[in-house]
Amino acid sequence: MGGPEVERLIGLLAKLPGMGPRSARRAALRLLREPETRMLPLAAALADAARAVRPCGLCGNLDSRDPCAICTDPRRDRSIVCVVEGVSDLWALERASVHRGLYHVIGGTLSALGGVGPDDLNLPPLLSRIEAGGVEEVILALGATVDGATTAHWLTDRLRPLGVSVTGLAHGVPIGGALDVLDEGTLAAALRARRPSP
Ligand SMILES: [Zn+2]
Repeated sequence: MGGPEVERLIGLLAKLPGMGPRSARRAALRLLREPETRMLPLAAALADAARAVRPCGLCGNLDSRDPCAICTDPRRDRSIVCVVEGVSDLWALERASVHRGLYHVIGGTLSALGGVGPDDLNLPPLLSRIEAGGVEEVILALGATVDGATTAHWLTDRLRPLGVSVTGLAHGVPIGGALDVLDEGTLAAALRARRPSP
């Protein structure tokens, strides 16, 4: 139905997170009904973002500037670095507007079962940042999963000897939970009540 262009559009939309074939068909129909006001602006926004947005060379955030707007913001406290698994967690913490320091996105968690080791993550740049000095506290804002805990232990063992305080999120992060699904109030409370990483 609709020809190869429509099939291709639905096929691509269906691969997006949270979308399935049914929601992809609905989204495609909505776009096709309003080509000038919805579809072409979306196509232009996609093309612009694909061209301009890159991972920040310092923290791993996605931004059209490198270093990103957070890393270059003079109002941010450069002595506190919050370590997160993914950019979605960074964005969740920014929405909660509770962390006034910098971030470091490690790009996942260590996983013995998944075969993910320290070299597979964005960890060496974090250690270099701390070794360069100026950082007093590292907040490990990782998910409450087995792999998140493993990663927190690994990082704590390596960061403490460098003379920084290492803390973790407090209550409020459900066991097995990811950060980016938490509501902003819960996330803010967990960050404010952080405690030394075990
Ligand atoms: Zn950055």
